[in-house]
Order: sequence, then structure tokens, then C-alpha cells
Amino acid sequence: MFEYDALIIGAGGAGLYAALEAGKKGKTAVLSKLYPVRSHTGAAQGGIGAALGNVEEDRPDWHAFDTVKGGDYLTDQNAAILLAEDAVRAVYDLENKGLPFSRTVAGLIDQRKFGGHTRNFGEAPVRRSCYAADRTGHMILQTLYQQCLKNGVAFYNEFIVIDVLIHENKCGGVIALDLATGELHLFRAKAVLFATGGLGRMFRITSNAYANTGDGQAVLSRKGVPLEDMEFFQFHPTGMHGLGILITEGVRGEGGILRNARGERFMERYAPTLLDLAPRDMIARAIHTEIRKLRGIRGDGSVNDYVHLDAAHLGESVIGEKLPDIAEFSRTYLGIDPAEEPIPVQPTAHYAMGGIPTDLDGRVLFNARGHAFAGLYAAGECACVSVHGANRLGTNSLVELIVYGRRAGRHMGQFVAEADFPALAPDATGPAKNRMQKLKSEGDGAGGEELRKKMQDTMTASVGIYRNGEDMTQAVDTLQELRERYKEVRAVDQSKRFNTHVLEILELGNLLDLALISATCALKRTESRGAHARRDYPERKDGRWLKHTLAWLEADKVVLGDKPVDISRWKPKARTY
Ligand SMILES: Cc1cc2nc3c(=O)[nH]c(=O)nc-3n(C[C@H](O)[C@H](O)[C@H](O)COP(=O)(O)OP(=O)(O)OC[C@H]3O[C@@H](n4cnc5c(N)ncnc54)[C@H](O)[C@@H]3O)c2cc1C
Repeated sequence: MFEYDALIIGAGGAGLYAALEAGKKGKTAVLSKLYPVRSHTGAAQGGIGAALGNVEEDRPDWHAFDTVKGGDYLTDQNAAILLAEDAVRAVYDLENKGLPFSRTVAGLIDQRKFGGHTRNFGEAPVRRSCYAADRTGHMILQTLYQQCLKNGVAFYNEFIVIDVLIHENKCGGVIALDLATGELHLFRAKAVLFATGGLGRMFRITSNAYANTGDGQAVLSRKGVPLEDMEFFQFHPTGMHGLGILITEGVRGEGGILRNARGERFMERYAPTLLDLAPRDMIARAIHTEIRKLRGIRGDGSVNDYVHLDAAHLGESVIGEKLPDIAEFSRTYLGIDPAEEPIPVQPTAHYAMGGIPTDLDGRVLFNARGHAFAGLYAAGECACVSVHGANRLGTNSLVELIVYGRRAGRHMGQFVAEADFPALAPDATGPAKNRMQKLKSEGDGAGGEELRKKMQDTMTASVGIYRNGEDMTQAVDTLQELRERYKEVRAVDQSKRFNTHVLEILELGNLLDLALISATCALKRTESRGAHARRDYPERKDGRWLKHTLAWLEADKVVLGDKPVDISRWKPKARTY
């Protein structure tokens, strides 16, 4: 058994920042499925939104308003205001910690345009995204990891958390599988913070890494913690055709243009003011519509399934200096030089707006009345403090990591400085041990690959960019059936060390639970809002649906609830750009 005051699960931007802060007040360890600098934050390309005003006038309240409008008014406005105000301090703080931002000629942090970020409450695009070429997330990870090492945070890498210990309403630690040895370990703590990232792997075409399997959300939902707004999943408009690998919005921020098969700049039809810099949900739907109207470009000759992102006019030097990774990816994966040819793109499953509900200090909220388990925290993409509402604006996730990851870590630090170790339930490791034994026992079940494929196809076809009641009813039935069949899945590989088959099965179980919750929530919400676009209910209905969904698992049943949205500053309006 290991013992720490504060345990952080996940070594992405949110987890590392929280660890740095909690580590100031108590003995702190990070458990991570991956080596820290391989966390998915490292894939973030475009930048961090903060109203520094370095290249043109900007204000935090413009940023907060854009965030609320971008989220189709499902954003909690108190959380968005705090995000935008603290973003400025947070970016300078990262700079002071050593992050090598790209610079203006005058030596200030440079800023570029990004979708949905505007000046003066929607007048025109504004340059708000602070960036380090197109490697911003990579730089965040390197900076924060070095700071954690310097400040004595302990790391347990390739340790996979499979259970959380909650007893008498207090969180007292986790159970983790050490991939290298196959052993289970109990980590005891005064407080635990989940920062386990996203769940894009429930879809077939996704920008997300293989490790993004929603482990934290699933572990907690099985303990009766409600998940918030799980029906809202973002499809980024510009994934590489056929692969889903992301082409950052930074390409459009630098002036890239989307064109259909006729060469038309089709966003003129859908968002005449912001054009290619409209929010992601709108552009993803516009591409989908162009393709359905047979104005997409022919891929393998059988379907019209993509459009072009044209950046050639930016020229080789801008692309080389500001978008070097994008140029490299295009050459490597598509054999295309973006300085000469347009990039074939199609929407890709990208970001979970919903997740583990928290207050502004990262404390997990247990139910609609706001009661929290003592010592249980969450931050980053797996959490939902609700700054993104129904649709996240680009650059706002990285801000969330460094604003709310830091706040959660600070609160946790104060908490562990005063708290005692909570009691653990008798036989705290029992359920996890039984689960592992069952996975490795004899059984008829296959290895789970077929279930994973069916889940991804079902989610992509029926709970994707456009949705309708009939397809989602069918999807819920299919997912329930897949969860039943999952109970029989067994590991073919029986070895102890580096048994990645066991890991994949555990991850599949998490994804199946979350897919069922997401599909059930999406079916229930009979309106269209942000990324949740229903053909059978095309209108937003504030009277009935301006509320957050809560959902959790009780055995095989998804239980639903709701809670109010904070709309204390801006009243909902029609969302046009
Ligand atoms: C290609 C791409 C580009 C993006 N670009 C931008 C951008 O420019 N700007 C922006 O704001 N956002 C961007 N995003 C979104 C943003 O990068 C992510 O939302 C954010 O980095 C998530 O950070 P995180 O700390 O919450 O999680 P992650 O960085 O995903 O880290 C999760 C951590 O949890 C660990 N973990 C997971 N499960 C377990 C487990 N069971 N046990 C132990 N550890 C576990 C992992 O090892 C990892 O360390 C982008 C996303 C993608 C996919």
C-alpha cells in the first residue's frame, strides 16, 4: 500500500498543474496510464485563449461572452467569467514557468484568431489565441512536468486506476494496476483528483489518442457520481480525411479557407460574419450539409465525403514558421504539401463538453443539490465545471486546464493540510481483485474487438453530428446489448507483465458505459443546442431545456436528473454569427 496526502490521477495539463499546487501543501503523487509527456494535452496545437490584448484591443468580458454564446447558453456564466478573467494571469504564469510562446516583433506573446472568439461582443474575429507555433500543448506538458519534478511531486507511470475508494461519503484513495508487473496496488490518500481526459475513442473517426477512453468518468459513474451534459460531444470540422487526425483551427486562424467541390467558400452561406472562423459545431454541420447536397469532394471514387482546407495562399514561410507540425502531418499521412495543395478534411470526433460535475474549486458535486464527497476532485476534459456548455470554443480547453486545474490543486492542498486520512471500507481491494480475476478466468467470450467496432460504428452513425429519435432509440438498445455481451469478454493473453489486452478490455468497459450514458442523454434532450443537433427537434427550447443533464449508472440502468444553468449575466439570445 502507498500513502500520499494528495493523489492526482492523470498527467495531462490539468493533472500536472493541480499536482504542482497540491504539492505545495502535502505529499503528492501523480498516477498516469501514460508517461506524462505522452498525455493527450501534448496533441493540442492551436493555442490558449486569453485576452492579453497584445496585438489588438481585447477584454476578458468579451472572451467570457464569446464562451457563453459559443456554448449556446448552456455554459455556467459564473464559471466562464472566472475563466476569462483568470486566463490572462494563467498565461503569464506559464510564461514565467518557462513556456516558449511564439512572439511578436516587439517580443510580446503573439496571438492569432480562432473560431468564435470576437471583439466587442460578436463584431468581428479577434486575435486572442496565445500559441507556441502549432505545438502549444506539447510545450505546456514539458513546462509543467519539469516544474513538478523540480518541486518533488512523485510519479507512478503506466499505473492504471481501475477503482476509487469511497466510504462513509469520503474519498480515501484508489486501486491501480501496475502495467509492468500486473500487480494491483492500493493508494491511500486524504484526497483524490481525477484529471483523466477525454473519451473520443467511443467514435470511429476521432482526433483522440487510443488512451482517451473516459476512465475517470466511468469509474466515478459506477460509484453513483452523476455525469453532466454527456449528450454534448464536439465534432471538429477539420480532421484529416479518412484518418481523423486533427488539422488545427489555427490554420483558419492564419487565413485558411474551406472550399467545396465547386471551389466555393461555402461558409459564406452559413456564417456570413465569421465565415471560416465560426464555432466548430456550425462548421461541422455546414460540411456535413455540403457533403449531403453532393457538393463534397470525391474521396475513393464512391462517395462525396470531404471538403478542402485551402492554406496554399499563406505561403511556405508562414506555414513553416507558424504551422510546422501541420505541414509535417500533411506530408507524412497524406503525401501533401499544404503550401502547394489544399488539405482534404472531414469532421472528426474531438471533445467531450460534459463530464464529472465540479464546483469552481474542482470539488466533485454529488447531486443536483450540490453536495460533494469529501476529498474528491476533478479537473480538465474529464470534468464539467461547465465553461463549455453545449459547444466548446477552440483554445478554451487549455485555458480550462490551467485555470481550473490550478484552482482544484490549490483547494486540494488546503484540504489535505487540515484533513485526516479517512477510514477505508473493509476489503477495499476486493471488488477490483474480483474483476481482474474474472477477466482472466475461463469463459466463452471473445476478446472484445467486435464489440468495440460495433460501439464505434453505432455512436458515429446514430449519435454523431446530426441525430434523430429513431436512430438513437436503436443505438441505446444496441449499446445495452453490447454491455450485456461485454460481461462475457475474457482476456486471451494470460500473462502478467505488460498485459495490454487486459488494459484494452478495461478501457472498452469504460467506453461502453459512457456511450450508453451519452446516447441515453441525447435521446432524452428533445431540442437542438450547440453540438447536439436533432433533425426531429431542430429548435433550441430554452423554456424546457435550459438546464444541465445529470446521468449515472445504477447497475445496468441509466438514471437521469438535471440541474439549473447559471445565466446571471447574459440572457439567452438567438445564436448567429
Ligand atoms: C489533436 C488535438 C488538438 C487540440 N488542440 C487544442 C488547442 O489548441 N487548444 C485547446 O484549448 N484545446 C485543444 N485540444 C483539447 C485539449 O488538448 C484537451 O482537451 C486537453 O489537453 C485535455 O487535457 P487533460 O489534462 O484534461 O487530459 P489529457 O491531457 O488527455 O491527460 C489525461 C491523463 O490521464 C491519464 N489517464 C487516463 N486514464 C487513466 C487511468 N485509468 N489511470 C491513470 N491515468 C489515467 C493519462 O495517462 C493522461 O496522463 C486539442 C485536442 C486534440 C485531440
